[in-house]
Amino acid sequence: MVFERANRLKELPPYLFQELDRLKAEVQAKGVDVIDLGVGDPDLPTPPHIVEALREAVKDPSTHRYPSYSGMNDFRDCVARWYERRFGVKLEPSREVITLIGSKEGIAHIPLAFINPGDIVLVPSPAYPVYHAGTVLAGGKSYFMPLTADRNFLPDLDAIPPSVAQQAKMMFINYPNNPTGATAEAEFFEKVVAFAKKYEIIVCHDAAYSEMSFDGYRPMSFLEVKGAKDVGIEFHSLSKTYNMTGWRLGFAVGNAEVIGGLGQVKSNIDSGAFNAVQKAGIVALEGDQSCVREMQRIYQERRDVLIEGLRSVGLSPFVPKATFYVWCPVPEGTTSTGFAMTLLKEAGIVTTPGNGFGEPGEGYIRMALTVPKERIKEAVERMKKLFGNR
Ligand SMILES: *Cc1c(COP(=O)(O)O)cnc(C)c1O
Repeated sequence: MVFERANRLKELPPYLFQELDRLKAEVQAKGVDVIDLGVGDPDLPTPPHIVEALREAVKDPSTHRYPSYSGMNDFRDCVARWYERRFGVKLEPSREVITLIGSKEGIAHIPLAFINPGDIVLVPSPAYPVYHAGTVLAGGKSYFMPLTADRNFLPDLDAIPPSVAQQAKMMFINYPNNPTGATAEAEFFEKVVAFAKKYEIIVCHDAAYSEMSFDGYRPMSFLEVKGAKDVGIEFHSLSKTYNMTGWRLGFAVGNAEVIGGLGQVKSNIDSGAFNAVQKAGIVALEGDQSCVREMQRIYQERRDVLIEGLRSVGLSPFVPKATFYVWCPVPEGTTSTGFAMTLLKEAGIVTTPGNGFGEPGEGYIRMALTVPKERIKEAVERMKKLFGNR
């Protein structure tokens, strides 16, 4: 029997990393010690006090029952307190905060709440693939906003034709940015708010990397900008901040109408995040934050080793102030895929070709700082052997 998949799945882009995965397995099968800078998944364990909090919470039978749809009151109160401490933004926990089963879940579901078939969603490119996938699954159409080096990887809102903007219902933005490592300041967010007000567009800002920053830099919240709460929401995740990718815990905050729409979709699809995980999440957000500073120190050290190494072989990577990604132009005369293949086949180093995140990512590769410093040094040594010291 052939069970044909629905058109909405056929419209999703092919899995661009498939060929690279296959090649990685092939190189590994030859006995090569592969260094994987491809995946953005922290290699460090969840801090012990958070693991301990989960262990305690699991023993409490009250956590074994269905959670509430929009999240535990204690967790949402805690998020509101964290927001005020961290960004000086006040939130009403019952209407302006929702717990998510990881932020990816909320990002994928939000178009279902507001997008009708044929509606336009403004989506950055290159980008985290879920903005486009969520749009497609809701029957919407992505209008891609290219992120280019000459504009510091911020979308040019003035370049969006008014006819497109008028049909647009939603916009995704993401700073600190995956895959470019770029950051945004108030001036850009203010432009986004004005644009969104003019065209009545819902803004969804993905702030998954707000805590993963270096050199003392502190990324701001979109909601710190005047009027932002009138037009949008912000997604956060405990995944990267506390090395909790496997735990599936995130949250969205901001405009009550938008949060309410997301809540309605979720109440029909899932039954909330495990209360024990939310209890551990409270301990993460409210407990000692030295683990966050330690995480920042480790990635900053890795970043510096990789940047110096890439420069020593004649490459000119962008130096990220935040995120654990290094975005690097490929050498003249090669392509994203060509260069990624060379690194894999000739040096056993896995990177992600930039065009995998969208066409404007052509000409770049992304390297994730998710392996120990010694392994990054080893990767640099292999590149020096391959390309020579420049
Ligand atoms: C990792 C990542 C997320 C998803 O995080 P989860 O909370 O684990 O679902 C969201 N956005 C971006 C840009 C990411 O890189």
